[in-house]
Amino acid sequence: MGILSFVIWVMAIIGFGCAVIFCYFVLPWLYGRWQRVSLKLLAVKTKSVVFTFDDGPSDVTPDVLAVLRQYNVKATFFLGGARIAGRESIVRQIVAEGHEIGSHTYSHLHQWYVSPISGIRDIKRGWQAIDNAMEIQNGKYPFRPPYGKLNLLTLLYLWAKRVPVIFWTTDSRDIAGIVDFDSQRNAMLIKKEGGTVILAHDYTVKTKDRIIPSLCASIMAAREMGMAVRTISELRAIRRVNNLSDKKNI
Ligand SMILES: [Zn+2]
Repeated sequence: MGILSFVIWVMAIIGFGCAVIFCYFVLPWLYGRWQRVSLKLLAVKTKSVVFTFDDGPSDVTPDVLAVLRQYNVKATFFLGGARIAGRESIVRQIVAEGHEIGSHTYSHLHQWYVSPISGIRDIKRGWQAIDNAMEIQNGKYPFRPPYGKLNLLTLLYLWAKRVPVIFWTTDSRDIAGIVDFDSQRNAMLIKKEGGTVILAHDYTVKTKDRIIPSLCASIMAAREMGMAVRTISELRAIRRVNNLSDKKNI
């Protein structure tokens, strides 16, 4: 093999590798960025605050539900399938009190670090765990990817299933270990930036002193600013209505 053909082969392999990396990792990441920007624009435009809770249910979830009940607002819970066993009644309580549920996989796998088959199997197992708790056969639920990461094949799978992939626009930074947590941060952002989709975590009672004050302050800030607290489906429904009326105007 001549030196020229060797160089061409090396360049072709490098080019192919870059294309694979771009499609498998970067495209889904760009999709996530675009989703976050469009969610933010929609939330600001409609003066909406959406509370989403990931990684539950846990023993703190009933406390979160009590606050939501007290203020008469609804939220969206992206449940971790592995956390449901033994807490099926909490899942049913979330739904019975008018909140929305979605899935956050079964084992909280990072979709970049597992095979697509394992990733998709974990997504299906997460849906099944919710179905078991609810004693229904719904088969699929809105999906929030753990760590906000997807690979191309899991994204295509979710699209094929017509499952909404839901990101967030404000991270509460309320998980254990974050030392500069501020329970007023979300409230300040609501007042400063307008609409937002807040990510909080109800995975452990250890962070009760973080999520409860932060939630209360955020609801108060939304009320003060005359904003509506909605579930993620309610926010997305507004987008659909807007799209329809835009088309009618053309
Ligand atoms: Zn999570």
